[in-house]
Amino acid sequence: MRDITVLSGGMGGARFLQGLLHGIATGRLPGVDPDAVVTVVANTADDLWIHGLKVCPDLDTVMYTLGDGIDPGRGWGRRDETWSVKEELATYGVEATWFGLGDRDIATHLVRTQMLDAGYPLSQVTEALCARWLAPTYGDRLRLLPMTDDRVETHVAIADAEAPSGRRVVHFQEYWVRLRAEVPAEALVFVGLEESTPGPGVVDAITDADLVLVPPSNPVVSVGTILGVPRVREALRATRAPVVGLSPIVGGHHVRGMAEQMLTSIGVEVSAAGVGLHYGARSAGGVLDGWLVDQGDADQLARLHEAGLAAAAVPLMMTDPDATAAMASAAIGLVAP
Ligand code: GDP
Ligand code: CA
Repeated sequence: MRDITVLSGGMGGARFLQGLLHGIATGRLPGVDPDAVVTVVANTADDLWIHGLKVCPDLDTVMYTLGDGIDPGRGWGRRDETWSVKEELATYGVEATWFGLGDRDIATHLVRTQMLDAGYPLSQVTEALCARWLAPTYGDRLRLLPMTDDRVETHVAIADAEAPSGRRVVHFQEYWVRLRAEVPAEALVFVGLEESTPGPGVVDAITDADLVLVPPSNPVVSVGTILGVPRVREALRATRAPVVGLSPIVGGHHVRGMAEQMLTSIGVEVSAAGVGLHYGARSAGGVLDGWLVDQGDADQLARLHEAGLAAAAVPLMMTDPDATAAMASAAIGLVAP
């Protein structure tokens, strides 16, 4: 296998990619060429405009993580970060004060926003940013593609007794960062998604791949939005590559983030099998051939097999690149001829 395409959110996807690339570099993935090319199709529905800057959290988390610039403790933003701009803005009382923009990180957003203002599409802007972060280490063997160049934003409806409708709609980042996903998400609105067009290279990356992987990313607001870009789902159904996913739900709970709240709001069972069945088997109109669940969720395999999925239970905690490479290896093993 030479061409591997990964549909990624932010932290879960980035950490998985780290393990995948480690597995390729150390020759531990069955049937995968040492010079395999990894194409990441990243969610952009978390993106927001703030203080006049375009911020792309998932693209940046993948870029900083794989480029060794991430803050390892937070799992987002830059290492050795300082917060002077944020403090000065707060002193002016400028909202939104809840969104963490570090000084180093702001440089990325300034470059991105300037290029967008000059007329470059997000895909080209991302390529330019990756020339600093990814190209020196990976050359042409790693590509980061936004799922779309169009503006798509996930919004969340929450209860608000003071609003005339009894509801208020907030940007996904406000729900996650300011409200800490502590109030129920009554509905999700994917603004612009249905009208969006896949970014350059996205459909081909799926169609021409030798393998497509769906990492443990949020199944609703990360992978769900990528699948919601018109023609992406069709490309997954049509590709000759096997499509394998790894469960972000372990023991009935998300490992981090807010997948539980998001799955509940769209009426999907919060379990490893629930997410696998939600994606569905390609043989039955879904997008997957195989689905890995954690070793503790082995009792759910029968339901997955019945639905037509290749499935296995293995350790699914991404504790370090070795453990994560073993997960990637197991995912490939599930569909290897
Ligand atoms: P986000 O954009 O930051 O939300 O990151 P993702 O969209 O990639 O989602 C993170 C998802 O990955 C969450 O649903 C977590 O439950 C899941 N996750 C995080 N760490 C692990 C892990 O070590 N193992 C597994 N199986 N899932 C994980
Ligand atoms: Ca995200």
